Amino acid sequence: MKVAFLTAITVPLLVAAHKPHVLPRQATSSATPSPASAASAPPAAATPSASGSVLPTFAYSLAATNPTAAPLSLISSGTLTSQTLALSTTEAAGAVPTYFSNAPPLPDLSTVLPASYPTLDKTPPTDSPEVLAWIAEVNASGIAIPNIAPTVAGGCPTNAAAVADTSRCWWTCGGCVRDTDVTTCPDKLTWGLTHDDGPAPFTPNLLAYLAQVNLTTTFFNVGSRVISYPNTLRDEYMSGNQVAVHTWSHPFMTTLTNEEIIAELGWTKKVIKDVLGVTPLYWRPPYGDIDDRVRAIGQAMNLIPVMWTRLSATVTFDTGDFNIAGGTDSPSEVLYNWQNIVSNASTIDTGFIVLEHDLFLQSVEIATGYILPAALANNPPLKIEPVITCLHKTFNEAYIETNPNATNPIPNSGNNSSSSTTSGGGAQASGSSGSGSGSAASKTNGAVSNSGLFTAVGFVALVFVSSLNLLL
Ligand SMILES: [Zn+2]
Repeated sequence: MKVAFLTAITVPLLVAAHKPHVLPRQATSSATPSPASAASAPPAAATPSASGSVLPTFAYSLAATNPTAAPLSLISSGTLTSQTLALSTTEAAGAVPTYFSNAPPLPDLSTVLPASYPTLDKTPPTDSPEVLAWIAEVNASGIAIPNIAPTVAGGCPTNAAAVADTSRCWWTCGGCVRDTDVTTCPDKLTWGLTHDDGPAPFTPNLLAYLAQVNLTTTFFNVGSRVISYPNTLRDEYMSGNQVAVHTWSHPFMTTLTNEEIIAELGWTKKVIKDVLGVTPLYWRPPYGDIDDRVRAIGQAMNLIPVMWTRLSATVTFDTGDFNIAGGTDSPSEVLYNWQNIVSNASTIDTGFIVLEHDLFLQSVEIATGYILPAALANNPPLKIEPVITCLHKTFNEAYIETNPNATNPIPNSGNNSSSSTTSGGGAQASGSSGSGSGSAASKTNGAVSNSGLFTAVGFVALVFVSSLNLLL
């Protein structure tokens, strides 16, 4: 790696790590240029974006870059030359990961038939035998689901009453968190690395780089994409990365009914179990859209939410990398965001978790060419680990089947079976242990039934606009 951009920039403490916006990924307001005092300018960043507009240039300084990195100008314009790398291996049925104990063998992928699963990028139906079984499990969990009405599409501006109701602890509008949310790593200068929205065509490129520099990450996977790229998911898992849940179709979870939330989480748990043999215990709500109703359903389904670090409304540890492909953030802005994240991380007593993605090549290129090389050369040194590791937990504690329940209680201790992820397309869950009577559960918020289609369409549109070359 070469050292680049050595001129130091003085970054004000707690300067915005990302532009203020209503919801991550939505079109953002006009960008605030970097401070005029910034001493170094990145090369050739102010090229036309994917949408044809010229994005502002931001100054940043990196300790190192990857000698093989794609020039920022190419990343910005979407004129990319990288090719999808082949997977390093295709993992065979029966193989067992070697980096933690007691993992079950990989299942036979020939039993994972796309026709057995819901539609790509759409919230699954709630009347299937599988979903009905998961609903029954949630009802029997004994975990009370708050009677909170779903929000409507549009986020904070279109949900004034929900925003005012702070009792629902809606992260999206105000950043409210509960003790059960993972928002940081406990140790200072420890970075809980995460990548969302895969598996995707360029995930193997990220995996190859991570292996090259001996890093591993936490992948929050979109369930319906696992159907498209099951071998990529297996490579993530077998090469030492943490696999976690990122819903089936990537909706705003607070807009969904209880039953739709259960369908989104249940099918994602199931497809991961069917492909890997293990069921994740961790998940991330798309856009960070979680409130106490979504939290409770996740808890009842044995899922622990992982957010990204947020110090204030304008200081969130979001690189904005997703927005390069959409043409709303320039690569230099993402590097500026990342530099501010590291600067802000040095001011807090804990570690931190950053939002990054592996759906688009642009995000992978900016990570492998710039962000991760700079992070590895950072002074003071950063400890870069998957979230499960930064939490001082073993990989056994990342999955239901391998978790030591006696020493690491799962979120819903009344339901420690993996029945909700019966493999092989089985229609019926095999009864949970069901210690709860279910009487405490309230699932009566039927006032709004939002299919989540709006957000699903938005997600698909972004994919389409910016990745015509991805051959999804
Ligand atoms: Zn996402």
